[in-house]
Amino acid sequence: MSPSPSHSNAPDPLRNAFSVDVEDYFQVAALAPAISIESWPTREYRVEANTEVILKLCAEKNVRGTFFILGWVAEKSPQLVKRIAAAGHEIACHGYSHQLIYRQTQEVFREETFRAKRFLEDTIGKAVTGYRAASFSITRDSLWALDTLIDAGFEYDSSVYPIHHDRYGIPGASPEPGRISAPSQRTLVEFPMSAAKFFGVQVPVSGGGYFRILPYWVTRAGLKQINEQGGRPFTFYLHPWEVDPPQPRVKNISAFSRFRHYTNLDKCESRLRRVLGDFSFGTMREVLEGRGLLGAAVNPAKPNSPATPSTAAAAVA
Ligand SMILES: [Zn+2]
Repeated sequence: MSPSPSHSNAPDPLRNAFSVDVEDYFQVAALAPAISIESWPTREYRVEANTEVILKLCAEKNVRGTFFILGWVAEKSPQLVKRIAAAGHEIACHGYSHQLIYRQTQEVFREETFRAKRFLEDTIGKAVTGYRAASFSITRDSLWALDTLIDAGFEYDSSVYPIHHDRYGIPGASPEPGRISAPSQRTLVEFPMSAAKFFGVQVPVSGGGYFRILPYWVTRAGLKQINEQGGRPFTFYLHPWEVDPPQPRVKNISAFSRFRHYTNLDKCESRLRRVLGDFSFGTMREVLEGRGLLGAAVNPAKPNSPATPSTAAAAVA
């Protein structure tokens, strides 16, 4: 009989959240000036095949993550939603029509958000408790959206980017996962996007365009800094279109948008494989449960050992 594996005294690596914002290339905010929402149904639909690439990679690396699915995509591809759930990933909501919240009316946002959440829940037969806004568009101008999320029954949000950006960000917001107050003073859990600090400058290292455009070692160093110096988990995100180098090229966009959308698409899949191997990942919900911020009631799948109650208590103390 072989001896049982020895346990070193080194602490387990901090578990981080892996997430995918499931939308197609023609729904991205940077391309919106050149693509009307009315033209979406006529565009080449590539999100299913591209999501499968990410699912395969997750299976290869034994990673389960959170898939924030756009309602528009879910209604077109309910079987895709089911396949993601069947692979053990957490299903969460990316809104319905990928519009910037601070440009929507509260009524439209409310109607869309309830519609998207209900459809996902009916499709998987389970509560959907996590939300991420299109282009992280919960900013100081749209904090009212947090009340809508609470009304809809979401338990956590992951839309706040504590940085300056031309389209999003709440500079100065806490980088720690924790409870955030809506204007009504009710609260829900916020898992903010992640930024590291190099020479005093905040560098977003959460994934997406930054992950593709910056050299991989910058992302890796930034994520390690958050885990090891910050002692906190990061959230990493990617879109299915980012692992799709031959996607149709959209014309009539600015040089900056072209740079942001198309740079290094051919490097993204191999980089994703690296990041999934270099860090420990779980779903958003698992990480928040492990820190004692959410109860363990809704999504029972827990592939790896969760934090012990005493660690969880220490994390919120
Ligand atoms: Zn999105």
